[in-house]
Amino acid sequence: MSKPKIAFYWAGSCGGCEVAVVDLGEKIYDVVDAFDIVFWPVAIDTKYDDIRNLEDGEIEVCFFNGCIRNEENEEIARLLRQKSKVMIAFGSCSHLGGIPGLGNLSSRDETLDYVYRKTPVSGNEGGTMPCTTCVKDGNTIDLPALRTEVSALNDVVDVDYYIPGCPPPLPVIEGAVAALMNGELPRKGAVLSTEKTVCDECDKEKRKKMVGKARRIYDDDVDPSRCLLEQGIPCMGPATRGGCEAACPSANMPCTGCMGPPPASQEQGSRMVTAITSLIGVENEREATAEEVAEALASLRDPVGFFYMYSLPTSFLKRRYNDE
Ligand code: SF4
Repeated sequence: MSKPKIAFYWAGSCGGCEVAVVDLGEKIYDVVDAFDIVFWPVAIDTKYDDIRNLEDGEIEVCFFNGCIRNEENEEIARLLRQKSKVMIAFGSCSHLGGIPGLGNLSSRDETLDYVYRKTPVSGNEGGTMPCTTCVKDGNTIDLPALRTEVSALNDVVDVDYYIPGCPPPLPVIEGAVAALMNGELPRKGAVLSTEKTVCDECDKEKRKKMVGKARRIYDDDVDPSRCLLEQGIPCMGPATRGGCEAACPSANMPCTGCMGPPPASQEQGSRMVTAITSLIGVENEREATAEEVAEALASLRDPVGFFYMYSLPTSFLKRRYNDE
């Protein structure tokens, strides 16, 4: 009897999610035993036509990592959705838009202009810009265009499950693969990780009061046994789903929010503003004044990068420009 088919794809991303799959080590053999890998461009030589030639729904599960940044990402997302029974957004970029989603702070023209003409290493004296059609020896080659905005996977296709993280932590991947192989996947739309926050998994001492102004991790001596946020180090732990076992705070680096919003919270940025507001002023057993909150927030450098490092395209803000 033929084995169920499985696919892996890499859209707009850095490739870290692919490395995370390889981190499964010998457990990848359990996947190979149970499934027939029909598509995995980073690891095996397969072509888009191999997928186009399959019946609709013939792939049992597709793990899709990366955001939707260009037309090719979108076309292949639609193709894989059509051919797959279960579509899993794998990693922060497909789940939330990811770090490439900060590209939504610039228009497409600004992005191209900066990357091709203005970076210190551009070396582009003629000011040549990329084009989407090239004619060579009478042959026309079409290349995918950059979209006007970065999107998460569920902005373009229906997604069944989400595996969060940049990249997803190994225990989270193992749990998801076990649920898949044992037929124990939860309700559609679930994020396949814990319901806890990063703070719940962090063993630093919490005194439930915070210094009023933000400072950088290297600005001053930091007590490694105490909550970083309470010492003024911007840490997204209260507004971020766990599953990573607080890997970054455990190494005395603040959480940057890659696991996305916790359950019952759609929006990481607003949840984090609430967390900061509730910590300021608690010292004196009173609510923070509007001025105190404004002062604390104004002291954050790069607030969009802090509140929405991985989730701008799926936030209430989505993007800066609407003019293209
Ligand atoms: Fe740990 Fe950061 Fe939460 Fe503080 S805010 S408890 S350092 S995860």
